[in-house]
Order: sequence, then C-alpha cells, then structure tokens
Amino acid sequence: MQERDWDDEDEAPQASEIAEARALRELRVIYQRADTAYAPFSCPASGECCQLARTQRQPWLWHPEWQLLASRHGLPPPRDDGACPYLDGAGKRCTVYADRPFGCRTFFCERIRGPARQPAEAVDTLLRRLEAVSQRVRPHLKSPRPLLEWHAEALSLEERR
Ligand code: SF4
Repeated sequence: MQERDWDDEDEAPQASEIAEARALRELRVIYQRADTAYAPFSCPASGECCQLARTQRQPWLWHPEWQLLASRHGLPPPRDDGACPYLDGAGKRCTVYADRPFGCRTFFCERIRGPARQPAEAVDTLLRRLEAVSQRVRPHLKSPRPLLEWHAEALSLEERR
C-alpha cells in the first residue's frame, strides 16, 4: 500500500495549491535571472520611480508576482501621496526588495549606470517565461495588471470579508 504524507484527506494539498507553489518557485528563478542580467548596472536608488502617481508609471504584475507580494507582505494601506504602498514611510526604500516585481527589477531611468546597452533580449525571454508560468495557474488572465490595481482589488475583497 502506498504511504501518505498526511493523515487527514482534508489536509491533502489540492492540485491548485501544488501548482501555485510551483509557480512561486519558478518565479524566484526568473527573478534571480533578471537580477543576474542587471548585475552590471546600478542607479542612485532614490526611490523616485516608486512614486507611482507622480511618474504616472507603475509595474505591471502577472498573478504569481502579486501572489508572492500579498502572501509574504500583506496589504499595507494606500499612501496619500499615491506612491507604491510597499515603499517605506520616508519614500526612499522598497520594503519588499527581495520580492519586488519583475518590472521593478528591470526598470531604470536615464540615471542608470553600467554598460551602454541594457539586456533587452534576456528581459524579453524572461517575460515570456513569466507569462507562461502565470498562464498555467491563471489561464483566464491574459495580461499583467498594474500593481495599484491588484492592491486596490485585494483591499476591497478584504474589507468585504
Ligand atoms: S515594489 Fe518596491 S521597488 Fe517596486 S514600486 Fe513598490 S516600493 Fe518601488
């Protein structure tokens, strides 16, 4: 007879949970590769690109990226200044740096320092892989969504509970 790793059938991991866990592992690999591709580059780390309302630009996340942020870091309240809710109070540092989305790892403003050319091919390959990972767990989600949209929706769901 085959041995089981759990006693109660109710506690057996569901197929969807296994798929989500796998997606998060793959996401970490993608993030590591993005960091490697950008290792020769740096920036002044001013936090200005995290001022989302001011820049009118925000990271767009596939489902596993949002899942990682929300599950590990919860839902901070929206900020009055419209900046990313995961920015620290002083508006300088990302409080979720190790888990920051792909877009935050690969976006640099004109003050980027490093080689003359950014690794566009590597970013493109990794983005396609990220899309495939997301599609496996959320096939109906055909595109990434802005960070603030994920955040507002999750807050609203939480308030209704
Ligand atoms: S997740 Fe971090 S790096 Fe990305 S916008 Fe928010 S504070 Fe900035």
